[in-house]
Amino acid sequence: MVQLNDNYLKLKAGYLFPEIGRRVKVFCEANPEAARRVIRCGIGDVTEPLPPAVIAAMHHAVDEMAARETFRGYGPEQGYEFLRHAIAQNDYRDRGIDVADDEIFVSDGSKCDCGNILDILGAGNRLGITDPVYPVYVDTNVMAGHTGEADANGTYEGIHYLPCDAGNGFVPDVPAEALDVVYLCFPNNPTGATATRAQLEAWVAYALKNKSLLLFDAAYEAYISEPGVPHSIYEIPGARDCAIEFRSFSKNGGFTGTRCGFTVVPKTLLASTASGECKPLHPLWNRRMSTKFNGVSYIVQRGAEAVYSPEGKAQVRALIDHYMGNAAILRTAAREAGLPVFGGVNAPYIWVGTPRGLTSWELFDEMLTRANVVITPGSGFGAKGEGYFRISAFNSRENVEEVARRIRTL
Ligand SMILES: *Cc1c(COP(=O)(O)O)cnc(C)c1O
Repeated sequence: MVQLNDNYLKLKAGYLFPEIGRRVKVFCEANPEAARRVIRCGIGDVTEPLPPAVIAAMHHAVDEMAARETFRGYGPEQGYEFLRHAIAQNDYRDRGIDVADDEIFVSDGSKCDCGNILDILGAGNRLGITDPVYPVYVDTNVMAGHTGEADANGTYEGIHYLPCDAGNGFVPDVPAEALDVVYLCFPNNPTGATATRAQLEAWVAYALKNKSLLLFDAAYEAYISEPGVPHSIYEIPGARDCAIEFRSFSKNGGFTGTRCGFTVVPKTLLASTASGECKPLHPLWNRRMSTKFNGVSYIVQRGAEAVYSPEGKAQVRALIDHYMGNAAILRTAAREAGLPVFGGVNAPYIWVGTPRGLTSWELFDEMLTRANVVITPGSGFGAKGEGYFRISAFNSRENVEEVARRIRTL
């Protein structure tokens, strides 16, 4: 009989968002009056429409597809040169970072890339993953058979968890033991924390010393507001020899439904073969994309290119300012309610400690039933998220002001 991939059976059921949905549904059915007041601050998805510059570029690209002379069929699997160049120039070289156009691989989003990268890595790597964490890093390693079973807390055998708490400012310290692959996400989802230059320097030094690979997820780079906070891992000297960076147009340009991101694989980045030889990873990722991917649509890539136009940059800035204005309002409200507040300065997420020793889910129920506000329980992101909750700043200003009022009166 055909065999399935047993590793999938090790996955903890996709528990967090279905359980949130279930509790909200039960509450709304039992309380039709309150149901009309419910405001959702739970999901990490943008709410505002695409910038006009992006829309105009995509309209134009659709018209090109309508004429034989300008029609495009299959494009390069790595992305069109116009977009790879715009990315490398604007996001890297203009900031004094050495990245070549052909080190950029355009994709349908960085969630996909974070999972797909495992195609080019071996099976025996010692894994370092933060707790709490964006669940994709863990689950894709489970699916690939890189872990053992999960215990009752959802902690997998074979993963070295890097605890993040108020004590370390939600930025993991470099561990004493040598790990081969470490996932870092800054600015962070769910904690909203950012790593300082010194902290990233420590991680790069660790990776160079142990010949490890840093998988650096910079999906929220555009939300950095404080000067001095690195926008890319490649701002740290030596990172070209130890890091892959994932970026996305989802949270800056609002492409969550449009789909476009990219991965940077420096040509100088080496890894070991089973027999101990050093080889570059760049040709492997190039081959992986050529074989398993057929590129992002021309229309979407023209839209992504427009993010870098002068109008596009100004419009993206306005979007970020809107969300970060929301974040400031939510931060103030939670602080005035006497709660310990983290994040929300360089990221669109506020990470808040629960009051009176409530668990994350107890707080969730209280917020739902008393304030009619949906938040995300921190324990859904890992054992170390217990005792916290995440409020998303992705919302309309009107909703955020109302949520702030309700938090204050709790
Ligand atoms: C939203 C998000 C992404 C972006 O994912 P896409 O697939 O590009 O939409 C990547 N990493 C984290 C941590 C995120 O929260």
